[in-house]
Amino acid sequence: KKSSLGETKIAVLGMSGVGKSALCVRFLTKRFIGEYDQANDNKYKCTTTLEGESVTFELLDTRSNDDDMGARDDVVRWADGFLLVYSVTSRQTFDVLADVRRRVEDMKKVSHVPVILVGNKADLAHVRQVTQDEGARLAAELSCSFMEVSASEDVTKVMDAFHTLCREIIEYKRR
Ligand code: GDP
Ligand code: MG
Repeated sequence: KKSSLGETKIAVLGMSGVGKSALCVRFLTKRFIGEYDQANDNKYKCTTTLEGESVTFELLDTRSNDDDMGARDDVVRWADGFLLVYSVTSRQTFDVLADVRRRVEDMKKVSHVPVILVGNKADLAHVRQVTQDEGARLAAELSCSFMEVSASEDVTKVMDAFHTLCREIIEYKRR
């Protein structure tokens, strides 16, 4: 019988248009469909295997506005960990995330909440505004994990980002 790693609740935060829905759909279905529901929060649940053990993901793909980046009180309270997403093609979407992280920790009233910083749209090299180094530097400042990914081009890295966060959540819960 397979042992279970339990449940991880992940909220996906960031400005609208950075690819939050694209990342969730890619993770869940392995597919990139190009157009996504913009009007609603989307909640998903799936069970998968990670390193031979079963784990249940609950995902909240937030409908963000540019005031809250999806980090509403109820969302933050619900989640165990957070995917903070920006687009490497938009500096503004990057610059807001330090604040989002601060808000999350204030609401949770704990430090070191499991977080992964994700720079999406890495395929759009010709319109890049944020370098990989800048992403890595912000992650070091926030002491969180970091990956650049492309929801449209590279399913492996997208899976990796969710799995990395999942492992951190499980470790965090065990402490
Ligand atoms: P959200 O508002 O953060 O949920 O963003 P969406 O997932 O709706 O994506 C916004 C737009 O960016 C859509 O047109 C997507 O097709 C596009 N998009 C998302 N991810 C990528 C990516 O990795 N590369 C490229 N080129 N386009 C992407
Ligand atoms: Mg969306």
